[in-house]
This record gives sequence, structure tokens and C-alpha cells, in this order.
Amino acid sequence: MSVSSLDISIKKVEKSRIGEIDPANIQFGKNYSDHMLIAYYENGKWGKPEIMPFHELKFSPATTFFHYGQAIFEGVKAYKDPQGNPIIFRPYSNWKRMNRSAERMAMPDVPNDLFVDGMRELINIDRDWVPTGEDTSLYIRPFMLAIDEFIGVRPAEKFMFIIITSPAGPYYSKPVNIYVQDQYVRAFPGGIGFTKAAGNYGMSMYPTMQIKKMGYDQILWTDGFEHKYVQEIGTMNVFFVIGDTVITPDIKQDTILEGVTRESVLTLLREKGVKVEERPLSIDEIEAAYHAGNLKEAFGTGTAASIAPICSLTFHEDKMTLPPVETWEITNWLKKELAEIRYGRKKDNHNWVVPV
Ligand SMILES: *Cc1c(COP(=O)(O)O)cnc(C)c1O
Repeated sequence: MSVSSLDISIKKVEKSRIGEIDPANIQFGKNYSDHMLIAYYENGKWGKPEIMPFHELKFSPATTFFHYGQAIFEGVKAYKDPQGNPIIFRPYSNWKRMNRSAERMAMPDVPNDLFVDGMRELINIDRDWVPTGEDTSLYIRPFMLAIDEFIGVRPAEKFMFIIITSPAGPYYSKPVNIYVQDQYVRAFPGGIGFTKAAGNYGMSMYPTMQIKKMGYDQILWTDGFEHKYVQEIGTMNVFFVIGDTVITPDIKQDTILEGVTRESVLTLLREKGVKVEERPLSIDEIEAAYHAGNLKEAFGTGTAASIAPICSLTFHEDKMTLPPVETWEITNWLKKELAEIRYGRKKDNHNWVVPV
């Protein structure tokens, strides 16, 4: 039975693979649900989307995205509510962001019903793949690729929009050790830092590999001009609690990705009456706060990890170790509050949760 008015063709698997999953030991990104959604864009319009068994794709070696990286993606999660029904967290925000990425990458807009209703239909069919355990979810990966079979450089004309989903177990949220990066940069004004373009991830692999060898978990990226203003950690937005104020870099520049989790955290903090500032924040200010005993808490936010506490920050020779995470009031409250809303255990006053 269809859960939306989207015109979609559906071909189901003969036998589900769900039995291959050990519900007590789900590893992130290892298993994909029975079905996927595919839609093609050609001659200036999207064709009828199809939901079909998860399968491998075949491409000509000359296909555009292999060579020139016209590829963008999103990350969304579905949860089971207390009644056992799948609910999706803020898919409309991801839809809007996908189209901001698409515009900058010269790719077509994805219609709202293709993105959100397509996702709802897919999850309705694969609802058994939304795990029920504490801290589990179904990770949803919508993405778009340029698929012209043409090796010349020009914006493509044919595209493919795909959604795959993957059950995710409890995210191991060991606090992270951060290395402040002042050599490599993630983004610069006028670039694509605000988009979820594949290339943003590709360029981060080498610097990340270097700091992992040194024993750190993630990079705190700084700005491209002065290597002074903090931007994001790894692929998460970043927050610092200095005194009684929560500070996160502002998104007036286009170097920071506007996280859905970031926006949710800002909303919840403001409603609770916590002092919040979105503004440029320099590593010097963080260091000074630390040495004055005012750096209380620090965390990253993103769909995959939700809230990731930071236990240390290393800038050149200066290793700043934060107080034990158990003592942090704001971060621990946020983590709990966000989970209550995402799992449908608490009244959703913001219309963030979309039923399947
Ligand atoms: C996806 C992403 C985030 C987090 O965004 P959410 O919408 O909260 O998942 C933050 N920074 C970067 C660079 C990202 O790609």
C-alpha cells in the first residue's frame, strides 16, 4: 500500500535478506536494506521513480561523475517510535539542503515529493529494517550523480537520484580527541564547503589519515585565510561552552555546512533559555578560555553521531583536556532531549518528526 500520492513503480524482492542481520550487533554502513529508489533526470525533467531490489549499478567508464565529481548526497535517519512505527527526523530540511548543494554543483532540483515521499515509500516497504533497540536507527542515504557518458568537461545533462538505506546500531560515542588543523583547509569562501558534495569528503581523507597516525580522532578545521577561526570538526558542526554561553561558528560565510542537527541543537538551547552565540570563534579565544578555566564543554553535531563530546583539543604543543564528560550539563541534556524527540517519546513541538 502506498503511503503517498507520488507516482512510483514498485518491484519487491522475492525473499527478504533481513534474516542476515544480527539485531544485537548491527555495524554501521555494512548492510543495506532490501530495496532502493532510483529516478532518472533527462531532457530537463525527472522520470517516474522506481523502488526495486537493492542491486549493483553498471556505468560506462566515461560517465561524468567518475571523472569530474558532480556528485552530492544527504544523510537522514529514521527511528522506531514507541508504537513500533518508523518516523523520519527532519527530512524536509535535508531536502532543502540537497537542493542548495545541487544548485552550486550545477545539478537539477530534486522535487519535494521525490525526496520525501520517495523516502517514505521506501521505508514503508523496508520498515522491518528500522531497528528497534536503544540508540539504533535506519540511516538513509539519498544521493545524486551526473551520468552523461561524455568525458569532455561541461555540466552534465543526465542525472540519477538514488536512495539506499542501512540499519545502524548504537553509535559508539567515546569522546573524541581533536587535532586543530592549521595547514590543510576544508573550505574557503566562494567554494563548496556549504554543500554535501562528494569532493568535500575526498579532500579530507589525507589530512585525516595523517592525524589518525598521530593518535587523534578528528580534525578541527580552521579558516582558509588566517587558519585562526574554527569551522567544523571532521564532518560535524562544532560547539563550545565557554562560561555559561554556547558558541558555534556562524554560517554567514559559505564555508560551513548548515547541519540539521546544528539547527536542532540551537533551537533546543534557545528554548531552554541557554545563552547561544553564532559568531566567528578563534582558536586563540578557545585557548584563552581554557587556560582561564572557562572552557566547560565541547561537542560535534551530525546525523550519524548525533552529539559527539570532545575530550581534548590539541593546538600545536598545547593539549587542552576538558573536564570529564559525565559532569557536563548542557551536552548531556541535549543528547537526551534530542533522542527523546527523534524516537517519538516526547511531544514534537517543532514538526521535526515525519511519519512514514
Ligand atoms: C553532513 C555534515 C554535517 C552534519 O549535518 P547534519 O545535517 O547535522 O547531519 C556537518 N558538517 C559537514 C561537513 C557535513 O558534511
